[in-house]
This record gives sequence, C-alpha cells and structure tokens, in this order.
Amino acid sequence: MSRKPNILFILTDDHAAHAMSCYGSRINRTPQLDRIAEGGLRLDNCFCTNSICTPSRASILTGTYNHVNGVTTLTTMMDNALVTFPKLLQSAGYQTAIFGKWHLGEGPKHCPTGFDEWAVLPGQGFYHNPTFIFPGPEGGVKRTVRGYATDIITDMCLDWLDRRDPSRPFCLLCHHKAPHRPWYPDEKHAGLFLNEDVPEPETLQDDYSNRAKAAAAAAMRVGVHMSETDLKCEMPDEMPESELRRWAYQRYIKDYLRVVQSVDDNVGRLLDYLDAKGLAEDTVVIYTSDQGFFLGDHGWYDKRFMYEESLRMPFVLRYPREVRPGSVNGDLVLNVDFAPLLLDLAEVAIPPQMQGRSFRPQIQGGTPPDWREAMYYRYWMNRAHHNVAAHYGIRTLKHKLIYYYYDGCNQPGTMSPLCAGRAKIMPLDFEPEWELFDLERDPREMRNVIADPAYAGVARELKDELHRLQAELGDARHPSDRD
Ligand code: CA
Repeated sequence: MSRKPNILFILTDDHAAHAMSCYGSRINRTPQLDRIAEGGLRLDNCFCTNSICTPSRASILTGTYNHVNGVTTLTTMMDNALVTFPKLLQSAGYQTAIFGKWHLGEGPKHCPTGFDEWAVLPGQGFYHNPTFIFPGPEGGVKRTVRGYATDIITDMCLDWLDRRDPSRPFCLLCHHKAPHRPWYPDEKHAGLFLNEDVPEPETLQDDYSNRAKAAAAAAMRVGVHMSETDLKCEMPDEMPESELRRWAYQRYIKDYLRVVQSVDDNVGRLLDYLDAKGLAEDTVVIYTSDQGFFLGDHGWYDKRFMYEESLRMPFVLRYPREVRPGSVNGDLVLNVDFAPLLLDLAEVAIPPQMQGRSFRPQIQGGTPPDWREAMYYRYWMNRAHHNVAAHYGIRTLKHKLIYYYYDGCNQPGTMSPLCAGRAKIMPLDFEPEWELFDLERDPREMRNVIADPAYAGVARELKDELHRLQAELGDARHPSDRD
C-alpha cells in the first residue's frame, strides 16, 4: 500500500550553510539541524536563483524563476492566484498550513492561499512580541502575540499538528524570521559567545582587487555600512577600516549565532514531537533557508551577490522510507526544484509550467544522466540596497560566470543607473563587466580570470551556455550583452 508522506518544510531567513555544523561550520554547533542531515541527506550544491527573501520564496512555492512568476524584487509581491505546491497538495487531500514569515505581500491578492490554516508575520516581522496576520476579511486581521518569534512559530506548528486529522497526510510550512537582520536574540541565548572570540573568515579583509568594480562598490562592509541597530551599540569614533571590520564582526556574528541557536533548539522540538508521536518514519523533514549570507566573508554581511556564500542554500532532508542516513549529494539543485520534489514524493502530478525538476533520484542516492550541468541566476535590484549592481550569470560545478549590467531594467524597486549619492555609497557609472571564477583553483572567488587568455575558451563556452539557458528558461538577455 502506498501511503502519502507527511511533509514538514522548515524555512529560515538568511541562514548560511557555513553556520551549520553539518556543513562544517567553524563558528557554531547546530546539533538539532545535524540530526536531519545525519538521519538523511545533505545537499552540497543547492542554490537560489535570486539571493533575496521575496523572490526566493516565490520560486520555492511556484517552482518557477522570477522572470516567470513576476517576483523579481522585494517590492513585487506574489500574485496568490499562482499555482503553488501547497495548493496542489491541498487539492490532493493534504492538510496544509503555514506559520511564520511569508513576505510575499498582504491583502486579498497577496495573502497566503492554499492553506487550511495560517498565521504569518507582516513583512519582515519582529523578533519580540511579533504581530501576526490571521485569516480574516480583506486578506486577514493583525494581532500581536507575546513572546519570541522563533518559539511562537514553533508553538503554532505543534499546536496545529496536535489538532490535525491523523487519518490524512499533512504539509506544514514552518517559516522562521530568524536569523534575518537585526538579529535580536532571545534572552536565554544572550550570554552565548560572551567571553570568546568567534573565528574570523579567511576573506574578512578582502580589498576587492582582481574583481569586477561591483565588489568594491557594494555598501555592505562589516562595520563600515552597519547601523547602531545592527551592532546594538554606538559606533566607535575613529578606527581604521581593518580594525572596524574585526570589531564589528565580533559584535554582529555573535547575535547572528545566538538567533541561530534558537532556531536549532526549536527544530529539535519539532523533531522530538515527530519521534514521540511515531511520525518520523512517514514524514519528509526539510530544513533550508531562502538564501545564504555573508558571515564576514569578503568583509561583508548581507547577500544579493552571486558569490558562493550568498548563492548557496543549506538543504538537509530526512525521509527514512527513501533516504539512507548520512547521504550527501553534490549535484546542482535549485530552489525551483523544491516544489517538483515535494509533489513527486506525494505522487501528485507536476504541472508543466513548473521550471524546476524533481530531485527524488538524488535523495535516493543517484543522479539522472541528463541532470543539469549549469544553473542560471539573476539579481534584479540594481543598486536598490547596499549598492549591489544588477547581474546575471551561470554556475557549473567548476566555474562561475557573472555579468554585471548596472541597469534596473524598469523593474519595481530598482534604481536607474544614473541615480547615486547615498552616504558612503560610491556612484556607479561603470560599463557592464564580466567576472569568471575557477572554483576549483579559487573557491573563495578572489581572482577574476575573465581577461586571462588561458580561460578564453572556457569563457566563450560559458557565455554560450548562459545565453542558451536564458533562451530555454524564457528570460531575455540585457541589451548591452552582445557577446
Ligand atoms: Ca532572506
């Protein structure tokens, strides 16, 4: 007899893989997240297709790229009439719910749909005593809930699990705000890391030489571009930039890790519940994050760039019926693949408009012979935040090619290339530029080899593959890209 699996999908916000011990973190331990990896699978090359909150969430739910689902930026809210995996599971008899961060808009056209029950944070939400939107007229009603967001969201999930109909499978989305900025820890974790130094990343003092100009122009340097809210204290008066980076890194990374600790504890509560109720065997448990984050890498915090630390999503999955404990897979898997996988596992037809592909063969230990060899990425919000330029590119297992085209392309929430002048932000009047990284020789992406004659052949092949992928996925190349 084929029983449909339960699905527990846990999504956090800005949790980089290199702050999880199952990914070899040098800076923290996450024993509860490791339980999922040890009992199942860890993906080592799982990537987002646009490294910011709202667009990645739309790709996860719809299985489509942002130029198709229309959610290109933080101000393009998702049309809740789009087909999503929770809707399809609900139609197939699943009980569905989402609790926590939604960040795809509010009101009748953007509130959650496809869920039997939901409670979501408006926008980014708050860590302490957060307001939630509950189902109600005109897209919902707001009410404040006292407590710490990560605990409350977990409580809501556990409460819903207790009240569900045990004769039908469930699909539960547990979406934490954590560990997104401004990193306010729970009181009980405030003392963690107090009397120790967190190891610094190798590239904390990156000077951005040998890179496209976009790297040096980014206004997301640790300390330099942070606020007093980020650092929870006043900025020091005068400090050389290298010292400022070191000082501010210790300040913010500790709060980031304290906030992650609360996630880890609460994931443990959910796993314990599944064990106690005898549900672990029949439940697909996934832990992932909407994108990565710079943890002082390249001297940065935040994300957006197609560089590794921001591009990579942590992804661990446990499903004892199909997945061998301790499995690891290095294939190129993307956020657009999650919806097809979950539908596949539930034996629900994958609609043709979904552009991702189920990686069920990978979770079972194999790789289909025709699996993708390159992935497509596009960040649209030209200079809108942290002065990060709009760019697109592709990554293979060995190389990465990025094209910075410095144009908002009239997308909502982007600035024109001529607009400049926020404090500490360099004007960007650059010509479009390419970057090419040899990920085997230069895994930290410190040397752009686009002009190196030894890489001319690779560059040509990658440009052709980029344009082929754009055509295949239905995106248009930028007019300045005539290569
Ligand atoms: Ca995010």
